[in-house]
Amino acid sequence: MTARVIDGTQLAKESRDRTTERVTAFRSAHGRTPGLATVLVGDDPAGGVYVRRKRKAAAEAGLADFHHHLPGDVTEAHVAGLLDELADDSRVSGILLQLPLPAGLDRHALVDRIPVGKDVDGLTTANQGLLARGLPGLRPCTPAGVITMLDSAGVSLDGAEAVVVGRSELVGHPAAELLLRRGATVTIAHSRTRDLAGVTRRADVLIAAAGVPGLIGPGHVKPGAAVIDVGIHRTEQGLTGDVAFAEVSQVAGWITPVPGGVGPMTIATLLANTIAAAEDTVASTTN
Ligand code: NAP
Repeated sequence: MTARVIDGTQLAKESRDRTTERVTAFRSAHGRTPGLATVLVGDDPAGGVYVRRKRKAAAEAGLADFHHHLPGDVTEAHVAGLLDELADDSRVSGILLQLPLPAGLDRHALVDRIPVGKDVDGLTTANQGLLARGLPGLRPCTPAGVITMLDSAGVSLDGAEAVVVGRSELVGHPAAELLLRRGATVTIAHSRTRDLAGVTRRADVLIAAAGVPGLIGPGHVKPGAAVIDVGIHRTEQGLTGDVAFAEVSQVAGWITPVPGGVGPMTIATLLANTIAAAEDTVASTTN
């Protein structure tokens, strides 16, 4: 079998085009431009690259850009003060605090200063609680993008066996919640899982989000499964993921490439969350 490739670049383009239309409609209806605030602390090179990509995509969608780059030795009180200002700024529809933060800053305390309606990364305790309860809220971008990719490929989730490798707050755990809400029978594997291949081979839908290059080989995959590779690794050969793409393509039914898979969809989902946040604010103030 040769797996069908789920083209994240194309799906992201379609999503971004829809967001651009919504931003234009919002501006016509309300006479102002929704904005995305990005906060980068320190000089982590990967964080800098991600923030630049997000800002560029946001600008292309017509969103206003409010970027803040703080030095790595900034105090937590200073970051908190900036987040509070952005929370009160009506021009800012969404706030993204780029992670990881430098050592010494309390990520949970800072993320939780973002108001739930501006939390376009879906990482506040409040939004994660809404997700756990299955209530409407802003969902974390990477897992939400993964679900969009599965839906676009026509992969059935209701009743499917899903295995998520990774249990992080950012990816693995919310991905499992979203799959559960869609009727999948979900197993979360992690670094302590015994016989990983035995667990992942049960999966009709396998999400690899361990951050270990090439962790998932053909022996980990049930023939015909949908394999979504969230991992991103910079190597001398270029970007690779957690899945051995060429070998697993011979076994899987669907597969996502790296690059050109989950990464572009994550950014597209951030933009979709930002316009949704702007629309929801208007809806809640006019109701
Ligand atoms: P993370 O916080 O480091 O979490 C990794 C998870 O994988 C942990 O739960 C860990 O288990 C588990 N794990 C580690 N080694 C394992 C192994 N050998 N077998 C099974 N499970 C293992 O990472 P993350 O933030 O979730 O990110 C995961 C990957 O996705 C990274 O490569 C990251 O760069 C990438 N990523 C990509 C996007 C995108 O847009 N494409 C977005 C976010 C992240 P324990 O909990 O037991 O330690």
